[in-house]
Amino acid sequence: VFGERKEKEMKKETRLGISAKKDEDFPSWYSQVCRFGELITLSDTKGLYILEPSATKIWNTLRSYMDAELEKLGGVEEKKFPMLIKRDSLEKEKDHIEGFKPEVAWVTRAGEHDLPTPYALRPTSETIIYPYFKNRIRTHRDLPMKVNQWVNVVRWEVSDPIPLIRGREFDWQEGHSAFATKEEADEEVLEVLNIYSRVYEDLLAVPVIKGRKSDKEKFAGADYTTRVEAFIPTTGRGVQAATSHCLGQNFAKMFEIAFEDKEVKRDKKGKIIKPLVWQNSWGVSTRSIGVMAMTHGDDKGLVLPPKVARYQVVVVPVPFKGADTKRISQECQAVKTTLQGAGVRAIVDERDNYACGWKYADWEMKGVRVVRRDTRVKMDVLRVDLVEKVKDLLEKVETWDEFKEALRQKKLVLAPWCDEVEVENDVKENTKGENEAGAKTLCTPFEQPELREDTLCFASGKPAKKWTYWGRKL
Ligand code: AMP
Repeated sequence: VFGERKEKEMKKETRLGISAKKDEDFPSWYSQVCRFGELITLSDTKGLYILEPSATKIWNTLRSYMDAELEKLGGVEEKKFPMLIKRDSLEKEKDHIEGFKPEVAWVTRAGEHDLPTPYALRPTSETIIYPYFKNRIRTHRDLPMKVNQWVNVVRWEVSDPIPLIRGREFDWQEGHSAFATKEEADEEVLEVLNIYSRVYEDLLAVPVIKGRKSDKEKFAGADYTTRVEAFIPTTGRGVQAATSHCLGQNFAKMFEIAFEDKEVKRDKKGKIIKPLVWQNSWGVSTRSIGVMAMTHGDDKGLVLPPKVARYQVVVVPVPFKGADTKRISQECQAVKTTLQGAGVRAIVDERDNYACGWKYADWEMKGVRVVRRDTRVKMDVLRVDLVEKVKDLLEKVETWDEFKEALRQKKLVLAPWCDEVEVENDVKENTKGENEAGAKTLCTPFEQPELREDTLCFASGKPAKKWTYWGRKL
């Protein structure tokens, strides 16, 4: 409903300003911020978006930041793989194809002819990269192998699209790695999760929680999935911000990715025994831009953290009666040049068909604030506010009644859970609203509060095994 409404809303919107209030009508507010903040434009196909320069600037900045972090991680090579996947390859790992089936878009024709075998438009690239791994990995010397690519993927999502948050095509970075041992793979999963948490907290000023997904919610084909989870205070919804999966040996088995170990072992017939590799995959998408806009935006429009703003300062000339407009313009240009010299991204708004007041409002909508919000001091305050807000949003409960009440208040709930999938299903069923999907597990935070021995699951009454975050998702 959210997405449907938003796209319709955006299409009929003709006004040139933000009219919806963030606290009153979040979906309309968000659609206006995306459009008037010049992040995206709708295309003529539902769920496909045109990224405008403000969004591409944020994405490119995120990319540079990530690339530098991956450089520190070490050994990650940037490559680029084809976007079409042969059906046989995609269907090789059973859980993987089961999970993605409903969202895969297929290419079946070329020109006038049906293709002998259909090709999938990559929803993710495990099944196109791992045949390559099989060929490239021969011995322990080839390990670890780590590749990363910055590409677009297609997932014909069944839920309604939401600009940037849930698109049918989106840009992302996907990393894939193979190790000789499980320990190395386990370690990398968390190293990458820490990078994602820095991307959100340091670059986009969005607080996130690091945790592990339940088996029901994990990535299709993974042993386990870790993720950073963001919370949208205004709606009380959780949103998966980035994921780092440990794939175990599931894909290695199916794609026969094995290596000759340092100490060669042989079977009874004298044939060399080759162990399978341990694999991870990890990704963050342009959803990050939507999460940032939802977190920081206000009733005047976008608010951009300075690190990712396309323009950090806009110089607006203020002409007055009898003024030497040429001189004013020259001075403004000089201010801009000085700022640029100091590494500040600045422009002069010389449009002479608009009054100053109009220009201020216009730039505010696009997330540029010359007066206060461009200063680091203000940013720091904002960041502190955010953490407070998120804290406000979280509630620890122990019983079903408390849980229902906290959900009603749009809170995200930390509750003791018996870790059983049937209970997860029951909670979802029993919290469905008229227009709302039921509550799901968001993640089990790595930083666990103390769990007393006699603590019971809030939903089943069985002994609890862990504290887990629950809530409705965007
Ligand atoms: P996954 O491969 O499903 O773990 O997805 C990796 C990351 O991509 C997730 O953590 C999301 O942040 C993001 N993502 C997943 N689906 C979409 C989508 N439809 N639109 C935008 N971003 C998405």
